[in-house]
Amino acid sequence: MPDSSRALVVAIDRDLCMGSGMCVMYAGNTFAVDEQTKAVIVDAAGDPEEQILTAVEACPTGALSVVGTGAAT
Ligand code: SF4
Repeated sequence: MPDSSRALVVAIDRDLCMGSGMCVMYAGNTFAVDEQTKAVIVDAAGDPEEQILTAVEACPTGALSVVGTGAAT
């Protein structure tokens, strides 16, 4: 049963991010690309955990990494 009080904590290495938008494609309620064409997190729990994990794995530059879980805000 999903625990909605927890959220994956994803780190973005903005130096590695090249703004491909893959993370936004897979988890568009969690990630966005800002005006510098770099990914940002808009809502750490914006999408189901598996979608966020898919987005992390889909990043072509490895800019995304799961660093833990934390309380959703
Ligand atoms: S998938 Fe990776 S490279 Fe592409 S926008 Fe997201 S963090 Fe940046």
